[in-house]
Amino acid sequence: MRFTKLRLNGFKSFVDPTDLVIHDGLTGVVGPNGCGKSNLLEALRWVMGENRPTAMRGGGMEDVIFNGAATRTARNFAEVSLVLDNQDRLAPAGFNDQDQIEVIRRITRDAGSAYKANGKDVRARDVQMLFADASTGAHSPALVRQGQISELINAKPKARRRVLEEAAGISGLYARRHEAELK
Ligand code: ATP
Ligand code: MG
Repeated sequence: MRFTKLRLNGFKSFVDPTDLVIHDGLTGVVGPNGCGKSNLLEALRWVMGENRPTAMRGGGMEDVIFNGAATRTARNFAEVSLVLDNQDRLAPAGFNDQDQIEVIRRITRDAGSAYKANGKDVRARDVQMLFADASTGAHSPALVRQGQISELINAKPKARRRVLEEAAGISGLYARRHEAELK
């Protein structure tokens, strides 16, 4: 599976619909301070099911919605779409019937978040599991936030182990075991 496109609409500073085409070998995004580089990475994490406002540098989940600027009024919703190439058919069951998977997350003021995968309503849990199985996901060690390296160096052993488990691709299994134990 590979990411091929990220589309933002009303997400943080990306008030107008913006497409980022992710070609093979993309390793960095450069631009002046405040142009939205970190917001792009946050959009990627958010569409994969990130639910901690702190990871989105906000106080509440609705802070991801464009909140207005001198010349533009605030928006009522934010939407991020992530397109995955699934020609290798490595997506988990339930997602694996097509060559391309489009995951959309939308948040509306006072109405919370909803997710769709290829047009069908899905739960946050399903989306999180899809990406956990692909060894990526909101907590993936492949996405390194500013300041995260020093946090990792100072982390407690348990927290550091979680990062290693994500990197090893086994955190999806843990999440499933935990769900099974609760049933
Ligand atoms: P740096 O190089 O300093 O790390 P950056 O390119 O990573 O900068 P970001 O942090 O992604 O920049 O973008 C910050 C900009 O996004 C700021 O101008 C901030 O006002 C704007 N921003 C953040 N949240 C919102 C929001 N909800 N609505 C509108 N603008 C927002
Ligand atoms: Mg930044």
